[in-house]
Amino acid sequence: MSVPVGTDANSTAKSRSGTVAEFGLVDVDPENLEAAIQEGEAARQAAMDAFALPSVKFDIVEASRSPVPWGGLSPNGRPTYPWQFGKGADDRSIPPPAYLLRHEIGHDLFVRRLVPSTRDDQYGGDAPDWLDEMAAVAFEGEDLRSVRRWAAARYAREGRLIPLRRFLTMTHPEMEAGSIPASSDGTARAFEAVSEDTPMFYAMASAFHDFLRQRTGNHAVVAEMAAVVRRRGSLERWILRRTGHGGRNDGIAALDAEFQAWIAVDPRHGGDENPELEARTGRRADVRCRDGDARRLPEPSGGAADDGWRGRTSGTDRDAAATRAVPGCRG
Ligand SMILES: [Zn+2]
Repeated sequence: MSVPVGTDANSTAKSRSGTVAEFGLVDVDPENLEAAIQEGEAARQAAMDAFALPSVKFDIVEASRSPVPWGGLSPNGRPTYPWQFGKGADDRSIPPPAYLLRHEIGHDLFVRRLVPSTRDDQYGGDAPDWLDEMAAVAFEGEDLRSVRRWAAARYAREGRLIPLRRFLTMTHPEMEAGSIPASSDGTARAFEAVSEDTPMFYAMASAFHDFLRQRTGNHAVVAEMAAVVRRRGSLERWILRRTGHGGRNDGIAALDAEFQAWIAVDPRHGGDENPELEARTGRRADVRCRDGDARRLPEPSGGAADDGWRGRTSGTDRDAAATRAVPGCRG
């Protein structure tokens, strides 16, 4: 836990001022300080846990007062993340939820430190789009992840999960739809989700991340895959080998079947407590959610609860509602 201890002791006249946190400086309005430090600290921990990057440094600043763009460098050379914590000056735009800041920091650190981008016309860095998204999802907090897990379990029940073979080769649905504006800094943050595939894409990124972490036993499996991409190896071959499906002609199909069976029984995906899943998988069916039927929960919209924000209420508000509801169901 970071504790603000005053202004930066090493600052020069030109340096940024702000509250010192373990990850760097926080220069935001007082009412946003707690949220900014909480997000920054969560991102710092995630960089260690998911990326195996010890002691990353960055600054978080109030977007309305920031002269540097997203990911621009501070006078001290730290990446800077301007974030709109409150309403805009015109009081019309709705700010993105603060809990998405760590997701966006994950995107930036992944491209900055693990798989850089050598082209402008792509989502994130040179890694496959699913890996770019998985890297950011790996930074998310448990509340948001539980929404994604709930969505993945539901899509699996309904047979609507994106087949693994397609997922591993597809362009990001919003990139495909042309809804992500080109950005010069290699990050794509401001877009409105329009593709029907987008919620499924994020649910897959979350569930496959959980699956790979468990199967490989490596919490930093994203960093391990990033290394495969950097040395221009075959990610598909690596995944098959690390999950015990190497050397088979139908490896991806077999892996997909195993992945879907795993979602149905994994406790974090509701496998222990979800009556529908239990009914389908033949497991004990006498358990009921205390708060009623999970089917009543609103459908999370993965894309909207993600990169960028245009001040609309779609998606994330519903995600937040689902976030509150799901733990009640899980007891
Ligand atoms: Zn993202």
